[in-house]
Amino acid sequence: MTKAVVCLDIGGSFIKSGLSVRPGEIAAVKRVPMPVNDWTAFCDAVQTLLNEYRALSGDDAPLAISTAGLVDADSGEVYASNIPAFHYRRVAETLQRHLARPVVVANDADCFVLAEAVAGKGQGERIVFGAILGSGVGGGLVIDGNIIQGTAGICGEWGHGPIMRTALQLADESEPLQLPRLPCACGQQGCLDTVGGARGIERLYQQLYGEALSSQQIVTAWHAGQARAQRTLVVWCELVSEPLAWVLNVTGAARVVVGGGMASEPALIALLDRRVKQLILRRTEQPLVVVGQFAENGGLIGASVLGHRHHPR
Ligand SMILES: [Zn+2]
Repeated sequence: MTKAVVCLDIGGSFIKSGLSVRPGEIAAVKRVPMPVNDWTAFCDAVQTLLNEYRALSGDDAPLAISTAGLVDADSGEVYASNIPAFHYRRVAETLQRHLARPVVVANDADCFVLAEAVAGKGQGERIVFGAILGSGVGGGLVIDGNIIQGTAGICGEWGHGPIMRTALQLADESEPLQLPRLPCACGQQGCLDTVGGARGIERLYQQLYGEALSSQQIVTAWHAGQARAQRTLVVWCELVSEPLAWVLNVTGAARVVVGGGMASEPALIALLDRRVKQLILRRTEQPLVVVGQFAENGGLIGASVLGHRHHPR
């Protein structure tokens, strides 16, 4: 029988699944609804997927799961407020008993960075930081091919912490721009998460011009050279590049791979790359902040690397 790992990527709406016969490779990708409030329904959905893959995977293929939320490496508990069925549950341990097969679980941002470090745009670098710029801001750190989870799984969560500037001096403007510290879902005020992702760009535009536009409208206007959108994204770039430069100085990462919805705007990521290079202590002309290549299936591919590593067959 083929040595295969069944991989899942769990989000707030869907379970994405795939079969991996080699680390970093994924095939037979499917998507089914995620019953976020119902653990039993989730177990049933996983059992159905395992049955569908059985002809290719064998009866006892290990399961490797990438999930939204924090994963505490010590206790095994998952903290995922948008997936109540997982919240405070030891997902790997419980599923392993229920399904009578090995199960490994990791955070989805961590899986994305692992995929990029092992098989994507971070290949060849010892220390790779992943910056997830989606609706909010997340991240992960991989060193020597290993996810660094940190205490309670928080390593890489650069989107949280009260760090946002309250005054920003823009070129060609006489007075510094005053910025409020916006409240964050984590309970702090002034987290990068409040301004750094797609919702953050919308909040910045609203703060600057009192008008509610979608991030897509703002980015389209930026491409068209519209002045308000350009100023908004200059502010965004400053607010994101400063903490990112700090992360690079602290971790010594040689490459930042960007995932999440905003990775589909390479021109924005190039803006960040130029600015971060000016701000870090190290001088480099090499690509530093780059769009990841696994925006679509990074969670599944990272899970496949973990699955083969934890359960060699
Ligand atoms: Zn926060």
